Amino acid sequence: MFIEIEDLRDEPLHVHHTYGVGELAFEREDAVLAEVVAADFVLTHEDRDLHIDGSVDTAVRCRCARCTSEFLRPVSAHFDLSYVPQPKGRKEKDEIELKYEEMDVAFYDGVRLDVDLMVAEQVELALPMKFVCREECKGLCYRCGRDLNEGPCGCGSEGPDPRLSALLEFREKKKD
Ligand SMILES: [Zn+2]
Ligand SMILES: [Zn+2]
Repeated sequence: MFIEIEDLRDEPLHVHHTYGVGELAFEREDAVLAEVVAADFVLTHEDRDLHIDGSVDTAVRCRCARCTSEFLRPVSAHFDLSYVPQPKGRKEKDEIELKYEEMDVAFYDGVRLDVDLMVAEQVELALPMKFVCREECKGLCYRCGRDLNEGPCGCGSEGPDPRLSALLEFREKKKD
């Protein structure tokens, strides 16, 4: 979906659009979209400078970085963005980049706004670097690979690996 800047009126434009799963290009390798993406935003503009205030809601199916189990994670984010036309000349470019350096400003071609791209970016930005199924997830045993959320594996009760104990002692000392 594109918004043609020529078509914008003075009043704020309210957009509510739901994308089907697979309708958005989504680049994360450890997660796939699992539910429709509901995008809701209000666009206001001053000439070709755009301001967009809105939210995205969906869910992704992802893999826990600790225990490798798959789980569904809701994604809900609010965003507040400004878009200005991509500057053309070298000098103009430097000036504009300086002006917007501290602000959350993105560039667009000044003709039409790619809404699909914006929504996909906002979903990706809302995701954590690593997925963890739950805060207290114990992960897998580094020796036998058993899922420690299902109970102790037995490796632990035999004490730490002798090759590791020197390292562990060192760490203990460092803590003091
Ligand atoms: Zn986990
Ligand atoms: Zn084990």
